[in-house]
Amino acid sequence: PNSTSGDCEPGSAATPPHIVLFPSAGMGHLVPFTRLAVALSAGHACDVSLVTALPTVSSAESRHVAALHAAYPAVRRLNLRLAAFDSEASAEFPGADPFYARYESLRRAAPLLLGPLLAGTGEPAAALVADIALASVSIPVAKELDIPCHVFFTASATMLSFKAYFPTYLDAHGGATAIGDVDVPGACRVPRSSVPQALHNPDDIFTRQFVANGRALAAADGILVNAFDAMEPEAVAAMRSGAVVAGLPSVFAVGPLMPVKLRQTGDEVAEEQGNCNDYRAWLDAQPARSVVYVSFGSRKALAREQIRELAAGLEACGHRFLWVVKGAVVDRDDAGELGDLLGEGFLRRVEERGLVTKSWVEQDEVLEHPAVALFVSHCGWNSVTEAAARGVPVLAWPRFADQRVNARVVARAGLGVWTERWSWEGEDAVVRAEEIAERVAAAMGDDAVAEKAAGVRDAAARAVADGGTSHQSLAEFVRRCRGWS
Ligand code: UDP
Ligand code: UDP
Repeated sequence: PNSTSGDCEPGSAATPPHIVLFPSAGMGHLVPFTRLAVALSAGHACDVSLVTALPTVSSAESRHVAALHAAYPAVRRLNLRLAAFDSEASAEFPGADPFYARYESLRRAAPLLLGPLLAGTGEPAAALVADIALASVSIPVAKELDIPCHVFFTASATMLSFKAYFPTYLDAHGGATAIGDVDVPGACRVPRSSVPQALHNPDDIFTRQFVANGRALAAADGILVNAFDAMEPEAVAAMRSGAVVAGLPSVFAVGPLMPVKLRQTGDEVAEEQGNCNDYRAWLDAQPARSVVYVSFGSRKALAREQIRELAAGLEACGHRFLWVVKGAVVDRDDAGELGDLLGEGFLRRVEERGLVTKSWVEQDEVLEHPAVALFVSHCGWNSVTEAAARGVPVLAWPRFADQRVNARVVARAGLGVWTERWSWEGEDAVVRAEEIAERVAAAMGDDAVAEKAAGVRDAAARAVADGGTSHQSLAEFVRRCRGWS
């Protein structure tokens, strides 16, 4: 009687509910939306549409969307063509990060374009699932159309609790312009130094969106989060009990959503040129648990000086490494040569035991490779969930936004270690090579960390298995959608 999947299986009498997913910009948002789309479509027999805003900000996003629809033709594609809102946003927010500028364009477009888009799919929507960054603009449109609207929070449950509470904090502190330590009732304490940089400026584009979306959470019909109860028990419980903010809707912790294997269209081109699979072949040639994987995600480039110190640190640590270097914020702008960035001398010296690339790697494939022993990570939440699912210990080096909050989750859950004073974007401090080498070597030799990370992997596997907390949460969400369709 407690089966959670029976009512969702293909062949059940009810028509599959049509669920429309509305992501914002950047791989950090698109990737979890893709995983949700596949979990709902292939795993729970729902009829799924995915909105794609065009043109995408990065090439990685456009390749990813093409690969998704090629592999899963059942997932419908809904294109949302954007007029030139970006320049308008940048005039108001000069120098804004291109991904945040895109959130802003989407937020301005949604009231006008989302309604017709939802109405024009042919199949009435049973539910809309909007990205957190689009929450406050999507909920009113859905309400007008009488479509239940869920918000998908693509980061940690701990960050979700912070976000939900932050407007209350501001109200209690007279709209504070100086943000101090933030105690999120029942969930966590976020020290001032871990508060996302932008939030210290009330006029920042990110802050305005963050606060509006935080306030809107209570008006949603439910909140999905790519997290699981066992990894962040306090945050999940505090969100559900009303301790963080009274009157929030149901919280469905459905993570870690499982990676979807996609064959990127770019792969074929690169394969023809003979350079796509170098990292795969290279990893295959390394001994088990010998490689340090280093990546700071898809959003930001490290400062030049820090890149050089990191290079020297990796050279000095003595271990094998695979390093994905990013020289620009948006991949299309990243035209520089590796040699210019790192020096030809470095590349030659580490040739035997290091592979450095500027290309996109399929990170989940890297993390599940038996050669990989440690992940030096910026702690973007997707990266954390992928490390958790594969049991790869993390050496956390958060850089901006929610990453310090996530690094704290990593350390508390036992998935890895975090040196809290390591530099944070906006600080001048540079972490020197010796210290990097020391920490990497220590983490590589730390069996206790490896063992705990394996424990997190097992807990993640239990959460998403039949009957596990995340599996049940997703099934419950689908059940609700069926009720609405
Ligand atoms: N990613 C990848 N290959 C790369 C860089 C990133 O597959 O070369 C993926 C990574 O696995 C993750 C997503 O892109 O799923 C990045 O999201 P995350 O939240 O980790 O960080 P962000 O890039 O948003 O800072
Ligand atoms: N975020 C949010 N509200 C917004 C925009 C972003 O809560 O209006 C969250 C986002 O989910 C993440 C963090 O703020 O937890 C940083 O946002 P960003 O898009 O930079 O995340 P990234 O894509 O780099 O992981």
